Amino acid sequence: MSRHTKIVATLGPSSSDLPVLERMVQAGVDVVRMNFSHGSADDHIARAEAIREASARAGRPVGILADLQGPKIRVGKFAGGKVTLRENADFVLDATCAEGNEQRVGLDYADLPKDVGPGDILLLDDGRLKLRVERVLGTEIHCTVKVGGVLSNNKGINRQGGGLSAPALTAKDMDDIRTAAKIGVDFVAVSFPKSAADMYMARQLLRAAGGKALLIAKIERVEAVANLEEILDASDGIMVARGDLAVEVGDAAVPALQKKMLRAARNKNKLTITATQMMESMINSPVPTRAEVSDVANAVLDGTDAVMLSAETAAGNYPVEVIEAMSRICLEAEKSNEVMLERDVLARTFTRIDQSIAMAAIWTAYHLKVKAIAALTQTGSTALWMSRLNCGVPIYALTPEKAARNQMTLYRDVYPLLMSQTHQDRDVLLWEAEQILLDQGVVEYGDMIVLTIGEPIGSSGGTNTLKIVRVGDHPAPGVTD
Ligand code: PGA
Ligand code: MN
Repeated sequence: MSRHTKIVATLGPSSSDLPVLERMVQAGVDVVRMNFSHGSADDHIARAEAIREASARAGRPVGILADLQGPKIRVGKFAGGKVTLRENADFVLDATCAEGNEQRVGLDYADLPKDVGPGDILLLDDGRLKLRVERVLGTEIHCTVKVGGVLSNNKGINRQGGGLSAPALTAKDMDDIRTAAKIGVDFVAVSFPKSAADMYMARQLLRAAGGKALLIAKIERVEAVANLEEILDASDGIMVARGDLAVEVGDAAVPALQKKMLRAARNKNKLTITATQMMESMINSPVPTRAEVSDVANAVLDGTDAVMLSAETAAGNYPVEVIEAMSRICLEAEKSNEVMLERDVLARTFTRIDQSIAMAAIWTAYHLKVKAIAALTQTGSTALWMSRLNCGVPIYALTPEKAARNQMTLYRDVYPLLMSQTHQDRDVLLWEAEQILLDQGVVEYGDMIVLTIGEPIGSSGGTNTLKIVRVGDHPAPGVTD
């Protein structure tokens, strides 16, 4: 049984060596995430080379996602690396403070005093510590500690309820977009976008640098939730970035938002990644908690394209085991995934010919209970439309383009394969497509399959033909009877 939901794994110290990467790929990683909050351009370039090597050795395509740091506001460094803040103590945030102590600490965003006022709640380190703003004096934000704890160097700051003015793309992000383009990554994730304009800007910078990556908007600000529809229109997909999102909107609001956002994205033919703390306990434990198992399974049932691992694979002790565990949970959850085709298909409106063929293929595949769909595609758009509807039939996307194959690693239900499509004769191409499925062991002679192709051959966006066949019914090229 093949898994339909994809797994994104973050790279870090626990997953840098080639042997570990290879085992992670074998265990089922579909996309790796390079976190641009850490490491230099050279580190990322070396990582990308290593992952391409591991992918080639394992014979499986692996997509690469560059996750930009974004305007995450962070405290500065402490003289001793960390301090312990006690409840009700006074604590000052001040961008001009060079080295922190138990009374004050620096900030990497000098405009924060302009964005906050008395009564605001600031959350540090993903909400573990809580400060209340008492007053702002020049560059100093005077706070009272409401929930104390250990605060170490460079931990993040969020304001409860959102509303911080920092622009989505920092100067570092702009540099990193150029690095991502140079590496030729398949996806770029933009952190903390507030509106469609942030996504358009990222896209413009990426295209100007020659990058062809798909753009993923991380939904982790209150404003992004409010502007979800326009952000979706401006993006190729979204990440439900539950870490920062929970801090901004309150943790209890996240599960319902996750469902709403995943549905909205699918309705607009966009991709989705569900992220953060999915298997958190497996940083230190060889098995997940019951709650984590349910969380991953529920994301699958919500229809996410991919589930993501962060520290579990970047810094955890079980980078391979966590992928195996996640894979097993996805497979089991997929068995009880409800097929919601009728309602979905009838509710959809579309005018494009290629999209109509994609919908017809799904409809046919479902009702005839075919073994597989084979979509001969250039850019992968036909496969994307097919994958937005959960019809329970695996979609083999056959493309001559390496870039398209790697981007399709994120599409739920889609198995991307390379196929040179040099022949001008449709029947020869379809025969070759069948041979690929036979070679992969996913169909047998006599199985019914659905094939889609565009004529004239090789034009992109030109899918206009649907064919239903039994494998083996096409005569081999040159054979006449
Ligand atoms: P991060 O994004 O890990 O880069 O913060 C994901 C999240 O906020 O959940
Ligand atoms: Mn985040």
